[in-house]
Amino acid sequence: MKAIKFLTHIILIILLTAITQIGGVIYLISLIIKPYLINRTRLNKKIVFSGVFIIMYFLFSVLIIPPVAKSYGREALPVFSNKNLKPLNIMTCILNRHYVRPELKENIKSVAKKMNKKYPNTILSYLDANFPFYNGFPLLPHLSHNDGKKLDIAFFYKDKSDNELNKKTPSFMGYGVFEEPKKGEYNAPKNCKDKGFWQYSILENFVPQWKKEDMVFDSKRTKSMVQFMLQEKNTGKIFIEPHLKTRMGLQNNKIRFHGCRAVRHDDHVHLQIR
Ligand SMILES: [Zn+2]
Repeated sequence: MKAIKFLTHIILIILLTAITQIGGVIYLISLIIKPYLINRTRLNKKIVFSGVFIIMYFLFSVLIIPPVAKSYGREALPVFSNKNLKPLNIMTCILNRHYVRPELKENIKSVAKKMNKKYPNTILSYLDANFPFYNGFPLLPHLSHNDGKKLDIAFFYKDKSDNELNKKTPSFMGYGVFEEPKKGEYNAPKNCKDKGFWQYSILENFVPQWKKEDMVFDSKRTKSMVQFMLQEKNTGKIFIEPHLKTRMGLQNNKIRFHGCRAVRHDDHVHLQIR
């Protein structure tokens, strides 16, 4: 019984570290202080432990991690404070997956500002960025998001009546509902699958697809966003699925194909600085 309990703790610490980076350490601290707290209350032990963990996790995330990360060269992207730039899903920030280098933060804030000037009331929705600490610590499942220089941004969409939508994508998390290649367009997903890269379209199987018919890919605003990204001096590479690059008439050697070992990029734009 003790061995199972110990193993469960280890698995949870590993999982929390993989998903949030700091969650594993906070779980460990909660385990250490648990005996002192449980002796002082008659409440159920599990409720006390869960409460301690959640409160500590939020206190660390809001008060301690941001200033410490800043001293290590990473800053949190705006959560509520910037009207042009917000997370698509607040879970990105709750899980501490919204940290970038200050230069990337300035880059994307400038893109969001320019977008708002061209298309008033447009909000850029960011997806996964990086964890707050350590170069080389990957933000799974994105292996390359490990140095504060990478950021994913959701595509723009319109509703069926041609109204521009903001902070809304057919996928609840911005990934996994794809703007498929049309007949006659180059089909990298099929090409990668034929070569044996089974993971390329894997997200489609896990993300609900039922909103796909309600939203239309907004190629006009998405193209402008990529063009504004290209105007930023420190933009190094942009990944987007080849059929969309061609469809939107985007020509720039900073827009690259990410390769079959990655996953599809016809649901979001990947931006990285030099
Ligand atoms: Zn990415």
